[in-house]
Amino acid sequence: QCRSVCPTGAITIKYNVSPVWREVADPNTRVVVQIAPAVRVAIGDKFGIPKGENSLGKLVAALRRMGFDEIYDTNFGADLTVMEESKELLERLESGQNLPLFTSCCPGWVKFCENRFPELRGHISTCRSPQQMFGALLKEEARMNEADKRRTVVVSIMPCTAKKAEILRPEHMTEGEQDVDYVLTTTEVTRMIQETGIDLAVIEPEALDMPFGISSGAGAIFGVTGGVTEAVLRRLMNSSNVEVLEEISYTGVRGVDGLKEATVLVGEREVKIAVVNGLKTAGELMERIKTGEAHYDFVEVMACKRGCITGGGQPVPIGPRTKKARLEGLYKIDNMAQIKLSNENPIIQNLYQGLLKGKEHKLLHNE
Ligand code: SF4
Repeated sequence: QCRSVCPTGAITIKYNVSPVWREVADPNTRVVVQIAPAVRVAIGDKFGIPKGENSLGKLVAALRRMGFDEIYDTNFGADLTVMEESKELLERLESGQNLPLFTSCCPGWVKFCENRFPELRGHISTCRSPQQMFGALLKEEARMNEADKRRTVVVSIMPCTAKKAEILRPEHMTEGEQDVDYVLTTTEVTRMIQETGIDLAVIEPEALDMPFGISSGAGAIFGVTGGVTEAVLRRLMNSSNVEVLEEISYTGVRGVDGLKEATVLVGEREVKIAVVNGLKTAGELMERIKTGEAHYDFVEVMACKRGCITGGGQPVPIGPRTKKARLEGLYKIDNMAQIKLSNENPIIQNLYQGLLKGKEHKLLHNE
């Protein structure tokens, strides 16, 4: 069996291609798949598609041919994360407790913090990551739908090897069931597409399924360093005015430096932000936070340099040209998105009034 090693050094990875093919072939199983933001700008690499081009529609078409029953977007899960994480930040700013708030969507970082800085783990957001929120929601929806007798299996396509360990954490089980059953990396899905003989370069793109196929531009930029922070700031500023959006993008959260800092005004409160990519820089910053030398209200950390676009499950080689193209590819998706703010996603608004009502904590948080 093929194995590879996580770049964060946390785990040894097992490939999941065979069990997923078995689930897809089972007529009594409903296989639902979600696609992470950074996958769409890398999946075309082995098919001769220009670097960084958004191949989401082509991937959707291929997955449908391969037999997946429903195909959704993890960007939708990212919209949910923005809703919950911005609420949590406001609560902590008000109470003054557990500041800075550390982001929780990168399992490589979460594990690093737990191992190296256990005394600071209470600062990690209680929010589940986008894939986990979305998985929990999909499973809850399946539990409520008694008419469908099929077993629901959730598969995530991720740029990340550490996501395979994230789905196994005990807090990512709801009602005794794993929220996400399998994680396939971009590389594994590339191999599956090649096995079927589909050429991604020539297949006609298709649309995601509804209702969870609609997401905001804020969800798309989760795949790049600074994206989570920018998405949360959009929610807190609560304006889709072009000038406000530009102002947020110029606060200093964009760019590829290992550590970026910004100060923004939320209401009357100055909020100090740090955005980190790479665990070496994260370790240095954590030491400074621990000793009281550095003070922040919100800290975003992504274990991989530049964020998920260079994750350990992405096709290689990833040279400077590829990194730049993937990063620009995600910002281009955001530029083209009609909905810029997670809270303006109409499906998200409906969910909070419907399926999620009273279940936000059970499905979207760890504690
Ligand atoms: Fe995974 Fe790297 Fe993204 Fe973290 S930054 S979620 S380790 S791909």
